[in-house]
Amino acid sequence: MVSTGPHAVIVGAGHAGFAAAAALRDRGYTGSVTLLGDEDSMPYQRPPLSKGYLLGKVEQRRLAFRPESFYTRHDITLRTGVAATGIDRAGRSVHLDSGERVPYDTLILATGARPRRLDIPGLDLEAVATLRTLADVDALAPRLAGATRLAIVGGGFIGLELAAVAASKGIDTVVLESADRLLQRSLSEPTSAHVARAQRSWGTEIRTGARVRGFAADGPSVRIDLGDDEVRADLVVVGVGAVPNVDLAADAGLAVDDGVLVDTHLRTCDPAVFAIGDCARFTTADGSTRRRESVQNATDQARAVARTVTGDPTPYQALPWFWSDQHDLKLQIAGDGTGHDEARIVGDPSTGSFSTSCYREGRLVAVESINDPTAHVAARKQL
Ligand SMILES: Cc1cc2nc3c(=O)[nH]c(=O)nc-3n(C[C@H](O)[C@H](O)[C@H](O)COP(=O)(O)OP(=O)(O)OC[C@H]3O[C@@H](n4cnc5c(N)ncnc54)[C@H](O)[C@@H]3O)c2cc1C
Repeated sequence: MVSTGPHAVIVGAGHAGFAAAAALRDRGYTGSVTLLGDEDSMPYQRPPLSKGYLLGKVEQRRLAFRPESFYTRHDITLRTGVAATGIDRAGRSVHLDSGERVPYDTLILATGARPRRLDIPGLDLEAVATLRTLADVDALAPRLAGATRLAIVGGGFIGLELAAVAASKGIDTVVLESADRLLQRSLSEPTSAHVARAQRSWGTEIRTGARVRGFAADGPSVRIDLGDDEVRADLVVVGVGAVPNVDLAADAGLAVDDGVLVDTHLRTCDPAVFAIGDCARFTTADGSTRRRESVQNATDQARAVARTVTGDPTPYQALPWFWSDQHDLKLQIAGDGTGHDEARIVGDPSTGSFSTSCYREGRLVAVESINDPTAHVAARKQL
């Protein structure tokens, strides 16, 4: 296929960027499609990084969304290891760190997010790591293999998945969470309590209300200052959430506020520029704004934008869903339980398989399922 006509340029070759390129071709977009990614590897899936890949059960070649031939076959110009450094909105071109300029008619920003950096001393110590990219995990894996005591700062999904991997490798692991329970922003109390129980049963120590103030090297180990207490570890992984990569958009004068601001059609204030995935804060049907970090959000937004760009203006309205695998526990969430005022357990948590239905003002808004895929599928239909 030889493309003619307009140019679509996608910045960021993660879940959203890859899906946008593929969806444009699926929708019969006949212009050129350029996918720019600053990581060196072929576009790959992130979820296995803190699960099967770190565990050694998923090979690296299995992480790629598609083999190289896919891009050739679909006439997608994939450029890896190259960063977009600026956007000339008036001239409609993207500047690259190689010094080149790539012209566009449609620009899709899919720049993702990066680990949040705590404002505390010691983050740059060699034994203190983060986990976002394939390169991060490739650097972490050998260290994990040699670690006897791992401290994970942050009891979010990535930290807990890592804890489950470490526990299965027999590594003495402590999770330090500043809130008074795990996954406080993402899960209802019953589901969160179940996850904490499961983690403890695998041997992980969970410390809530633990506010980390800094790290200091002490020979080969790290002293973690908790104010009134101290924890030692020979490896520390900080997983305290992510911040959206908005600099490119902000420097180009696009509106940003914890995400690139986009309307219901995922369009920025510049009609030629869209933003999708982890980097985008989108407007919902009720006029509020949301930013989500999930594979579902990245891929469904990519599909919605591809429809809009190919002449079928499509607002983004997909139901959010998410999953997390921790050891033998599969957690699936359908809907958005933020601000729920009632949580009802359905089933018996002691069997290890149950769901929690979350309600806001009497209306079902989310269902969290633990090893209960049938309930998850039903909830997605119902919601
Ligand atoms: C370890 C881990 C486990 C996860 N597990 C799950 C899970 O189980 N379920 C789930 O739903 N979600 C999970 N997620 C979240 C999910 O992976 C993200 O929501 C998803 O990757 C978002 O896709 P994205 O394309 O918006 O961003 P990303 O996948 O982060 O991709 C953005 C890409 O853009 C690149 N980029 C940024 N700026 C530039 C630039 N200027 N020029 C060129 N390239 C640039 C970045 O380097 C990156 O490669 C996980 C995330 C991580 C890190």
